[in-house]
Amino acid sequence: MAKVRTQLVSWEDVVEWSRGLAEKVRASGYMPDVVIAVARGGYVPARLICDFLMINNLVSIQSQHWTEAAKAEERAIIKFPYEVDLSGMKALLVDDIVDTGESLLLAKDFIMRKWKPTDVKIAVLQWISSAAKFKPEYYHLEVREWVWFQYPWTRLEDTYQFFKKMLSEEAKYGKNEWTFEELVKSFMEWYEIDVGDKYFRDAVNSLVRDGFLEEEKGKYKLKL
Ligand code: AMP
Repeated sequence: MAKVRTQLVSWEDVVEWSRGLAEKVRASGYMPDVVIAVARGGYVPARLICDFLMINNLVSIQSQHWTEAAKAEERAIIKFPYEVDLSGMKALLVDDIVDTGESLLLAKDFIMRKWKPTDVKIAVLQWISSAAKFKPEYYHLEVREWVWFQYPWTRLEDTYQFFKKMLSEEAKYGKNEWTFEELVKSFMEWYEIDVGDKYFRDAVNSLVRDGFLEEEKGKYKLKL
């Protein structure tokens, strides 16, 4: 049993889920003039939705709630509160997932007040119905039990953060030296996902570069 419930999402999943999401929007009869990607998780799905619905207009808003993998901040903020004129346009606000829904609610409110489109509807790949404050107009998959989806666009930063959490916990129980193979083995026990050798190496190298780990003759130690 994993210590943190995590599920790996592949690039193929993302394309298929975005295709499915676009189909739902099309079937509803809603014809957006502009897609708004919620940065950062909504970028890839939003671009794919533009392709599947053949929409040219794509803008973005950065509403941030979770700054680290599986760790929520207290409240969401609009990071760059610039204004664009969307009057007379119907908008589709696209994100990867509605978890608490805080960041999308904030983005939608900001867009309605400041960008003034005639309508905004929300489309996401996944909706965690047990956690979310609202149900989006369009979603591809309903998730009933909370899990952290390891999307391909956060593979390195999630692996990095997951290692950090795992190593800090293991250190509390007296462990302070690992080989690379031990790091990977522990990671797979903790999270039950395999992100592949390149991501494991990149994450461990980043932890060394950032001064969290030190390496000597193939052994890694926490640098506290
Ligand atoms: P929220 O405001 O709680 O709905 O989440 C804001 C953003 O955090 C989402 O758009 C995702 O990019 C990321 N996020 C939140 N929960 C998850 C999750 N369970 N799995 C993967 N990413 C998540």
